[in-house]
Amino acid sequence: MRAVAVFPKAKQVRVVERPYPQPVRNNQVLLRILEVGICGTDREIGAFHYGTPPPGSDHLILGHEALAEVVETGPEVTAVRRGELVVPTVRRPCPHRHCAPCRAHRQDFCVTGDYAERGIKGADGFLQEFVVEEDDYLVHAHRKLAEVAVLTEPLSISAKAAEQETAIQQRLPWERPRLRGLVLGAGPVGLLGAMSMVVRHFDTYVYSLEPATDVRAKIASTLGAVYVSGSEVPLGELAEKIGAMDLIYEAVGISSVGFDALGALGANGLLVFTGVPAPGKPRSVDTDTLMRDLVLKNQLVFGTVNASRSAYETALSELEQGMFLFPEGVRSLITQRHTIEEAPSLIAARGGIKQVVHLADASKS
Ligand SMILES: [Zn+2]
Ligand SMILES: [Zn+2]
Repeated sequence: MRAVAVFPKAKQVRVVERPYPQPVRNNQVLLRILEVGICGTDREIGAFHYGTPPPGSDHLILGHEALAEVVETGPEVTAVRRGELVVPTVRRPCPHRHCAPCRAHRQDFCVTGDYAERGIKGADGFLQEFVVEEDDYLVHAHRKLAEVAVLTEPLSISAKAAEQETAIQQRLPWERPRLRGLVLGAGPVGLLGAMSMVVRHFDTYVYSLEPATDVRAKIASTLGAVYVSGSEVPLGELAEKIGAMDLIYEAVGISSVGFDALGALGANGLLVFTGVPAPGKPRSVDTDTLMRDLVLKNQLVFGTVNASRSAYETALSELEQGMFLFPEGVRSLITQRHTIEEAPSLIAARGGIKQVVHLADASKS
């Protein structure tokens, strides 16, 4: 069977032949991979900046945003059945007894850093025709979502952020009125984050550099958000133009944009960072204003990395809501589908919103 692997030492990304998996045992599940989404993380791994092969291997199989079909289940599997569609989670717990989050199945909060991530760090990914996975790491997806369920993993970023937001805002002991949310960035993570805010009944704004005529702006409004172009409104004037925000969701990966957006954050508001910026030049920030606002406005800035099983489940139900409310908007996030042979050049290039490698059709059942 075929797989797409990165060889960090040889500096190559190519299609490789791999043996078909062994028969499944215990709680193992044999999966046929249907689709794999490609994102900036894959491109960084493909450019050899990032990514670690499994111990003892000279290559890493890519792919962490997957949709799969169950082909065969081990004797102890009860959570999923043959023929069902599933989304596998990405992060696997570290082995340390003292890591309370990992022992509580919350490896997204791992304190040792020794977790593995399929397709990213120390474990092969899903960009291969068949994969064996334990049922603990599979989340059931309804067959009717087959067309878009490959978006679950990037959507789980905002789903986890939403869980955190809800937990943190329990500090406010009153019923919250209608909330206002701002998304920074109109890439796939930003647009999915906007969809997530809209289905949670936020008045939602998307702020990004592209002009208001750009396809991303159109998708934002199809998804029920208001698009504000950075080419028309400077970030510093945003609050004046559209009002203060209860929640700002950073999905742009540029730290200066994230911190500059604090000026648009209202009293008791939260700003959540999800991007992982590459190291850059130091830059000055007005720390007096920052600290004064944090104190006098009870504001909170926090970071979040995806995702727990519950965040995948939340993402799948938000996707369901999105497909009911604005199916065309959700579909249009997937700009192109490619064959596995095209994957290496796809990873080397940029373009589109969400690019997907299509490996197999879901079986009819
Ligand atoms: Zn990704
Ligand atoms: Zn851990």
